Amino acid sequence: MHIAIIGNGITGVTAARNLRKRDPKARITIISGESDHHWSRPALMYVYMGHMTYQDTKPYEDRFWVKNRIDLVRGWVTSIDTEKKQLVLDGSRPMDWDKLLIATGSTPNRFGWPGQDLDGVSGMYSIQDLETLERRSPGLKSAAVVGGGLIGIELAEMLHSRGVHTTLLVRESAYWNGVLPNEEAEMVCQVIKAEGIDLRLNTELTEIVGDEHGSVCAVVDSNGDRIEAGFVGLTAGVRPNIQVCADSGIETGRGVLVDRQLRTNVPDVFAAGDCAEIERHDEQRNLIQAVWYTGRRQGEVVAENLLGASTEYHGGIWFNSAKFFDLEYQVYGDVNPRSIHTLDGEHESLLWVHESGRQSLRIVHIGGRVVGFNLMGIRFRHRVCEAWIHEHKTVDYVLQHLREAAFDPEFTRWHGADILAAMGGAS
Ligand SMILES: Cc1cc2nc3c(=O)[nH]c(=O)nc-3n(C[C@H](O)[C@H](O)[C@H](O)COP(=O)(O)OP(=O)(O)OC[C@H]3O[C@@H](n4cnc5c(N)ncnc54)[C@H](O)[C@@H]3O)c2cc1C
Repeated sequence: MHIAIIGNGITGVTAARNLRKRDPKARITIISGESDHHWSRPALMYVYMGHMTYQDTKPYEDRFWVKNRIDLVRGWVTSIDTEKKQLVLDGSRPMDWDKLLIATGSTPNRFGWPGQDLDGVSGMYSIQDLETLERRSPGLKSAAVVGGGLIGIELAEMLHSRGVHTTLLVRESAYWNGVLPNEEAEMVCQVIKAEGIDLRLNTELTEIVGDEHGSVCAVVDSNGDRIEAGFVGLTAGVRPNIQVCADSGIETGRGVLVDRQLRTNVPDVFAAGDCAEIERHDEQRNLIQAVWYTGRRQGEVVAENLLGASTEYHGGIWFNSAKFFDLEYQVYGDVNPRSIHTLDGEHESLLWVHESGRQSLRIVHIGGRVVGFNLMGIRFRHRVCEAWIHEHKTVDYVLQHLREAAFDPEFTRWHGADILAAMGGAS
């Protein structure tokens, strides 16, 4: 049996590793147009900033793939024929498969801005994007980053680390306030400004301006301001990369549509990771999860199902973490600013902010039962927070046992009492 996997990101390689563990005989091929080997995408910024080399970002030695008899093929899949069970690489190289996994990840959003194809305009997703930025970097004085999400702020930090004057254009009234509650969003805004980034809120990109050589030189925003920029980073979110499914008969919506077993509508064709849209007939919205650990988990589940199991993927308790310059961020569970700030009558939250304005803890609860944690500048233990949410612990319980969650016991020694004082009475 030949199992072909399109994509060598965390989802594709996790699936391949688990397939090999379970089936010593199957022929396994991973295809990628981006790179010969799997590398850690979240480490992209550290390569540019000189903290790591590209080689350091590879979690497995190159010989690992040979030893485990996982074939690596470099090339872009340009079409899939589900009747013949064949795909085509780079428009001309056919490859037969018995089972197929689509793990093509995400692609940066582009909204048809004038000038978006100029030289020096790029998303920040792939090795090729990093190479574009590297090519532009010598002598680069100013840059604009469009979009205030996690990748946007990373790109701003990358540029800033090389002394490039950087303007960050954010459509919202505060950084990432569709995801962060107001106080935390404001905290990040303060950090961005303190780092010397020119943060412009409530504004949108309207045009990217090129010079006579077809190279970017400025952007214009919705206030009519012209901002000089020798590089423009387009980081206004990502969407599932479903291009490969065109004309294949594989159903797509926002992503590649799959059931909870990560099966598409076509027999023997599966999809997982960032590119997959899991249909949830019982709930309001289909599930698209575009983070590292969910890709890994889906890779494990889909490997079982490729070999005939019927294992279901369930999203589990949401977790994400990031760094906004030096400010660490963690979220567990349900911390949705829309429900918190609109006071939907269900979600309530308790907030502690350190007097420095650089640390905070928010506990979200429904009727006194904890459903989420949002942490800025401090870290809690994943397992503990997850268990508390899973077990529907009360706010009182959590506050009494807060120390168990502390990643750094130093922190609780100094702030545990303050948190209790700020939250204790209100629970
Ligand atoms: C800069 C950056 C920082 C991030 N930081 C974090 C973080 O800190 N924490 C976190 O949880 N998540 C982070 N993410 C998100 C995380 O990297 C993704 O969720 C994860 O990589 C998704 O894995 P995947 O395997 O589904 O897809 P991907 O990693 O996108 O891999 C898909 C692969 O498929 C290949 N491919 C696509 N189409 C084709 C085709 N037609 N033919 C051949 N190959 C194809 C692509 O080139 C790519 O190599 C970050 C993302 C970026 C861009």
